[in-house]
Amino acid sequence: MKDIFDECRFRDLTLKSRIVRTGLWESQKEMGNLSPEIFLRYERLAKNHVGLIVTELISLYAHDRFSDYSHSINNPKFIKEFKYLAEITHENDVPIFAQLGFVNCNVNGKQNVDVNDLTLEDIRQIQSDYIVAAKKISFAGFDGIQIAMGNNYYFSKLIDLKENRRHDDYGGNTFKRLKMILEIIKVIKDTTDLHINCRVNASDDVLEIAKLLEKYGADSLQITKPSSPQYFRKDSKDKNILFEITDEIAGSVNIPVILGGGLSDINSINDLINSTAIEFVSMQRPFVFNPTFLSEWKNGSEVESLCRTCNNCYWKKTSTCHIIAEEE
Ligand code: SF4
Repeated sequence: MKDIFDECRFRDLTLKSRIVRTGLWESQKEMGNLSPEIFLRYERLAKNHVGLIVTELISLYAHDRFSDYSHSINNPKFIKEFKYLAEITHENDVPIFAQLGFVNCNVNGKQNVDVNDLTLEDIRQIQSDYIVAAKKISFAGFDGIQIAMGNNYYFSKLIDLKENRRHDDYGGNTFKRLKMILEIIKVIKDTTDLHINCRVNASDDVLEIAKLLEKYGADSLQITKPSSPQYFRKDSKDKNILFEITDEIAGSVNIPVILGGGLSDINSINDLINSTAIEFVSMQRPFVFNPTFLSEWKNGSEVESLCRTCNNCYWKKTSTCHIIAEEE
């Protein structure tokens, strides 16, 4: 019988629980630097039974649409500050991954380049920028990197059949649409010890994408909501289709697969991990509402997270709960 709080292997890492805290936005910075509030937040997460922490988004490019709400890999204090962040989680035996991605592609003096307009020079520049960023993350002592290729991030467009209409080596079949990312993974694997997690959308061809990512070096996957709501229709058994897709992938690859959200009570999660091939579940908003709720579960509480999923923290792009703030 599996349990949320099993100590378990996650490829090369040992986790204290099956819960992954996934990050989204973080705007509580001071002049672009991590504030004491952020360090405290990570300390509280790490001390309260989370298995793995994935940071909020670290933006690859300046002037990205969301750069005000994300960390920047190009901040001069990046290594110093993120090294301290990694030390905080490691002191509590919790591994930490850096979520790295971008929305707007600003390369070679150009702004907001569409995936179909990328030149070979642009592709090499993106790959080089990504690999340099991964080396910084490795130097800061992180255990892994999460390649943001789901949701609406740029890489999700690159691999999407409808968005990518290229006719060269980086467009066409699924392998070619993934090729830029597979080449990045190879170099990161060859030059760092980072665990590579890929966060991908539950799209029509996600099973093929998952198998290719595994074959070319990804160490784990996180399956997340695609931008189109069509994948969230309910089936006849009234189960969320994301669970089914993630279950199918987890049963088809030999690397850990994380369910990207959708559950916030202990009994449902324990039921899921005992009735499907899914062994890891990520959460974001419940941790925003209360970073210590896992300790309550560990101590026997079965109370569902009190987060109202109002999404204010998402729309306002902070890691703080606006409901709690209004009530105080
Ligand atoms: S702002 Fe809303 S969604 Fe975010 S943590 Fe608070 S209750 Fe949950």
